[in-house]
Amino acid sequence: MSDSKLSPKQWVAPHIAGLPRSGIRDFFELVKTMDDVISLGIGEPDFVTPWHIREACIYAINHGYTSYTSNLGDPRLRKAICKYSAENFGLEYKPENECIVTVGVSEALDIVLRAVLSPGDEVLYHEPCYVSYAPSVRMTHAVPVPVLTREENDFVLQVEDLEKAVTPRSKVLLLNYPNNPTGAGMTLADKQLMADFAIRHDLLVLSDEIYEELSYIPRTPSIASLPGMKERTVTLNGFSKAFAMTGFRIGYACGPVDLIEAMMKIHQYSMLCASSIAQAAAIEALQNGQGPREDMRREYEQRRNVIVKRLNEIGLPCFMPRGAFYVFPRISSTGLDSATFAKRLLQEKHVAVVPGTAFGSCGEGFVRCSYATSLEEIEIAMTRIQELVSALS
Ligand code: PLP
Repeated sequence: MSDSKLSPKQWVAPHIAGLPRSGIRDFFELVKTMDDVISLGIGEPDFVTPWHIREACIYAINHGYTSYTSNLGDPRLRKAICKYSAENFGLEYKPENECIVTVGVSEALDIVLRAVLSPGDEVLYHEPCYVSYAPSVRMTHAVPVPVLTREENDFVLQVEDLEKAVTPRSKVLLLNYPNNPTGAGMTLADKQLMADFAIRHDLLVLSDEIYEELSYIPRTPSIASLPGMKERTVTLNGFSKAFAMTGFRIGYACGPVDLIEAMMKIHQYSMLCASSIAQAAAIEALQNGQGPREDMRREYEQRRNVIVKRLNEIGLPCFMPRGAFYVFPRISSTGLDSATFAKRLLQEKHVAVVPGTAFGSCGEGFVRCSYATSLEEIEIAMTRIQELVSALS
């Protein structure tokens, strides 16, 4: 008998085999098998994409706009993105060479990490954080270095903690504010501290601003617009959340010419371009979508006010999120850990929330509730959560 029969060859590369499965996806496979579940779990708008945006996509199909676009993205979309970024985020980029259209922020993140990281480079990022960050870094053979954030600071990253984590191998600081999963936001002063830190340690900042337009406090300029930051920042943004366009899969990155050029090469050889008809829809979103976008933002804000008030009344404390559509209540007073709380809430009360540990170990003691669901459902979910918490006390 040959050796290969005794031990089948492991085809999957060790650094991929070692990646964890997303805790959220597994949890929601279970949810799908159950009836009458109110989901506060999904990080996806409950609104359908505004009609005029869908219509622009249909128009593009009907008029045969069905070919590859430029690798960097349809020039009309890049122009619209740069105009929009200047007007709304205080960012000045040239559509010709400082902006690339991608398949969601997910692809923008993937290609910027691949463009800048070599094996062993370190990426500093905050925990709790979006589930893709650490796996995306690992896929490049670089090293994710989580820096824990705390409830007492409303989950805003602190420079003292960054100073303890930075090493000569640190190359990137990855930020996501407004934040998934906590709803935390950064003030201008917070952003300035991050900028000073990045300059002091000569780091590239990747700023994932996908929730920027779902802000409930007056917006502050993007970190890239602060003095000395434009040349060391890549700003990532997209259409999934603000315009309820998750299925269109359109995102973008703006940054220094040499980095956009490097990202374009990876994108060119792996994706070619983002979907042409989805790009047509994105142009419409930027040019005429402000009314519907603002209506959705106001609706989220109203829901946020209700859910925060109710959770605090129930005895699951949470701070008032500054943006996104998540709250991150502390559930440790129930005596259960996050995973057990989420499991019992689902099994006994048919309400789905995500254990805080899905977003990093410091999420223990918390759960993430999304308010991308109707006020009516939020009210019912709160009653059910109250019943479970009362039964536990
Ligand atoms: N970044 C953050 C912080 C997210 O929460 C998400 C999705 O939940 C993404 C990126 C991915 O967005 P996209 O749909 O544009 O790929």
